[in-house]
Amino acid sequence: MTHSHGTQHAGPVTLSLVVPVFNEEDSLDGFLLRIRQVFEREAQISLELVFVNDGSTDSTLERLLHCQQSNSTIRIVDLSRNFGKEAALSAGLQIATGQIVVPIDVDLQDPPEVILQMIERWREGYEVVLGHRISRRNDSWAKQTSASWFYRLHNKIAEQTLPENVGDFRLMDRCVVDALLTLPESRRFMKGLFAWVGFRTTQVEYERPERAAGQSKFNGWRLWNFALEGITSFSTEPLRIWTYLGALVSLVSFAFAMFIVVRTLIHGVDMPGYASLMVAVTFLGGLQLIGIGVLGEYLGRTYIEAKRRPVFLVRRIYESKD
Ligand code: UDP
Ligand code: MG
Repeated sequence: MTHSHGTQHAGPVTLSLVVPVFNEEDSLDGFLLRIRQVFEREAQISLELVFVNDGSTDSTLERLLHCQQSNSTIRIVDLSRNFGKEAALSAGLQIATGQIVVPIDVDLQDPPEVILQMIERWREGYEVVLGHRISRRNDSWAKQTSASWFYRLHNKIAEQTLPENVGDFRLMDRCVVDALLTLPESRRFMKGLFAWVGFRTTQVEYERPERAAGQSKFNGWRLWNFALEGITSFSTEPLRIWTYLGALVSLVSFAFAMFIVVRTLIHGVDMPGYASLMVAVTFLGGLQLIGIGVLGEYLGRTYIEAKRRPVFLVRRIYESKD
């Protein structure tokens, strides 16, 4: 059963897992164990594990190096500081060599078994296989609601819709990875970029478990900025709103002016309220400040892109000795 019309793939395949890690010393062993359990019987899959150490300040790098001595599938990219998950993913994608590539979290919230189902779909000819979470019940209420609002707003105003309840956990064919690597922007909202490149896409469902060990690196403020990043990366709608809002406010004030003229003709001059004046002044002042803020947001992004700085800096790449 195939609906995809793409190239079908049989036989052996090389798979790269891209694993960003930031202070994950407690998660590593559990992750490697699960990976071994899932892939040791898969003779058709030859595995490469690309760990990107995103400026960890604990013993993550030492542990990785230690594991690499007995596990020749491990490659390690050590970034010069913490650049954030988005940049770390870009670094991993850049050096991954597999025919297929899957970004995966180290905390086992992206269950490795699901990758086997993804590969089945890829063999049918799909180039992207999304991991779709069937429930977010392990996320807090605040995270669920804010995520749902974010997707609604984003999909209303951005050109490419983002699939809801889909994270970075997905299978990508080599052609997709190569396409992603050609995108030049330095502020990288990966979910948006993934959606933007397109390609023949399908999804598999999975239940997202709770973090196996350690702490989440994303708090409320970081998620809020992440959402702003997503919207301003893929839509200029917030810039355009001000034209309409400005037109609306001018129309209303014009109507109000007419009303005053007519009323003065009929009733003569009186002293109108101070309150309505204050309201108009402060309301318009606020509106203008918000408008300037939005302009500033986009100007800032243009400024940062114009500098053409690299997305991340590598201190060193550790390849396995054998
Ligand atoms: N991560 C990273 N750099 C960061 C923050 C997170 O490489 O600045 C990694 C982290 O080590 C983990 C993955 O991104 O492998 C997902 O992070 P986390 O589990 O904290 O996010 P959540 O699941 O809470 O959204
Ligand atoms: Mg997590």
